[in-house]
Amino acid sequence: MNVIVLGATGSIGTQTLALLKAHQDKLVAFSFGSSIDAAKKIIDEFQPSLVCAQTKNDADGLHQEYPSIRFVHGPNGLLELAGLTGDYTLVNALVGSVGLAPTVRAIETKKRICIANKETLVIAGELIMKLVQQYKVTLLPVDSEHVAIHQAMQGDVNVESVVLTASGGSLRDWAKEDLPKATIHDVLQHPNWSMGDKITVDSATMMNKGFEIIEAHHLFGIDYNHIQTVLHPESLVHGLVTYADGSVLAQLAHPTMSIPIAYALYYPKKIQLAAFDWQRLSSLRFGVINEARYPLIRLAIDVGQQGGVLPCVMNAANEAAVRLFLEGHILFTQIESIVESTVTEYENQPLISITQAIQIDQEVYNKVLNHYVNERSTA
Ligand code: NDP
Ligand code: MG
Repeated sequence: MNVIVLGATGSIGTQTLALLKAHQDKLVAFSFGSSIDAAKKIIDEFQPSLVCAQTKNDADGLHQEYPSIRFVHGPNGLLELAGLTGDYTLVNALVGSVGLAPTVRAIETKKRICIANKETLVIAGELIMKLVQQYKVTLLPVDSEHVAIHQAMQGDVNVESVVLTASGGSLRDWAKEDLPKATIHDVLQHPNWSMGDKITVDSATMMNKGFEIIEAHHLFGIDYNHIQTVLHPESLVHGLVTYADGSVLAQLAHPTMSIPIAYALYYPKKIQLAAFDWQRLSSLRFGVINEARYPLIRLAIDVGQQGGVLPCVMNAANEAAVRLFLEGHILFTQIESIVESTVTEYENQPLISITQAIQIDQEVYNKVLNHYVNERSTA
């Protein structure tokens, strides 16, 4: 298999590369952001023919060191990778709205796509799914809950509802009144998963679960009233599908992203990975998610139901707020209030194009950032 990995130096990217190495698949091209040392290691190990850096400076510097490899940079460089012609699988492991345009390019050039970048589906899920149908491409989820549901659905038309499990994130045992005191360190200590910083923060606010509801709606064409969430602290059951006859199919796996990544990469083939130690399984707990404690889940459902540009606005506000929190400008609890107020104040309109989505994303993102940071910041 010939693979292009966008965001190869991140959490999903690194685990994808480990699978490619173990199965002797070819990494044709990859992108990275600021992790230049990690990028060099990937070049030495996989000898790709095309690499995209985030900055021109890094691309030029690397070209001096590796003259036989072509280097591109920035958003246009990502489009070049996504648009390579040939029989390629593309793994989109970028974080944030920067992943949207390359997904579109990969669809238009008929790649098989494994999508970890859930922001793409949050921002413009309806347009993306229309393009997927129009170009007749395969778009497979990488998110563990969606991989679970994809397996448990088995193409059956009698599905009644899908259920996404939630670990509760790093602050799940904190009292609500203590949340303003949560430090960056506290928030980044996820109990079950080791992930990139942005999604770890999104898990603590449960914006992530809200995003996943929207993601499930688009990927599986299921009405919002038939998508549920349940608290499951062990993160062993990742998703459930309920059927008309009262039966429920669930998928279990240890909380390592290698399993869902491999599912998408090699689908429909199952590859050999560490076995699930079910004999040591003692208890699986499930509980109701307190909506008052995690208001961003309800907000995401409302925003998803309203559609238009609101999901794009919510995503951009969240992306800016998470950055502000990680850079020490705001409290953890302000993420929630910034996302809520930005969405409430925005006048919705139909989303008619990807170009419009990218423009609104940038406008909202910069507006939120500039409100909290004096000097002008760029993404
Ligand atoms: P990371 O932050 O670990 O990695 C993101 C990758 O994107 C890195 O390679 C980073 O480069 C690159 N990148 C970031 N910003 C830019 C930019 N502006 N231009 C170009 N490249 C950029 O994220 P994760 O791997 O955690 O998440 C990736 C996606 O997968 C997200 O959408 C997330 O929601 C989703 N996901 C992740 C899971 C996980 O377990 N991590 C689980 C389920 C879904 P560099 O590091 O070099 O700066
Ligand atoms: Mg998930």
